[in-house]
Amino acid sequence: MSTESTTKPAPPLAFVDTETTGLDPFQHDPWEIAVIFREGDLDTEHVFRIQPDLTNAEPKALEINRYHERTSAPNWQWHNRRNATERLYGLLNGVILIGSNPGFDAEMLAHLFGRYYDQPKPWHYRPIDIATLAAGYMWALDPELMAKDPGPISSRWLSRQVGVEPPGTDGHQALVDARWAKAVYDAVTFPTGTPAPDVRGFGPRSEYTGGAQ
Ligand SMILES: [Mg+2]
Repeated sequence: MSTESTTKPAPPLAFVDTETTGLDPFQHDPWEIAVIFREGDLDTEHVFRIQPDLTNAEPKALEINRYHERTSAPNWQWHNRRNATERLYGLLNGVILIGSNPGFDAEMLAHLFGRYYDQPKPWHYRPIDIATLAAGYMWALDPELMAKDPGPISSRWLSRQVGVEPPGTDGHQALVDARWAKAVYDAVTFPTGTPAPDVRGFGPRSEYTGGAQ
């Protein structure tokens, strides 16, 4: 019998969202990636902007996430691809990914990491989908309400059920969507009255400017 503790420290959490040039990780690129990294009682916000290959971009995707409008703004700045990818990989190494349909973001990021790393998926193998999490919570809380809708359940509807207003016209920006994932996760997992972690951002728009921390 061992006297050593078998309790492992909980992995850090990473609330993630990516804006991409389309839905196919083989053809399309993530161009804006937000990570809210939670370790202990501190959240740090990071945004990476990596110039994509637009060859096969889906016009509809670029319209939805306002690619041309946002990237032509005077204060827009692309990060160095290699540096940003290395920083991102370091952040996501060993975390639990949390997002709205995070499997999508994971595939997009794995293709980016695959250019530079042997292990393109450095995170815990089971990401957490906030919609599934909220649905489980609501099934426990109000099964009659949940049973009324036999179809696929909207993440936005579920978000409102747990008291979080989903993004409006400011949505489809990576950091806005990552903050939304965090808010839904916290609404389900923080008992009332528990203080949520402090947030430390990078500058007024919480942009990752490279090198800090
Ligand atoms: Mg998004």
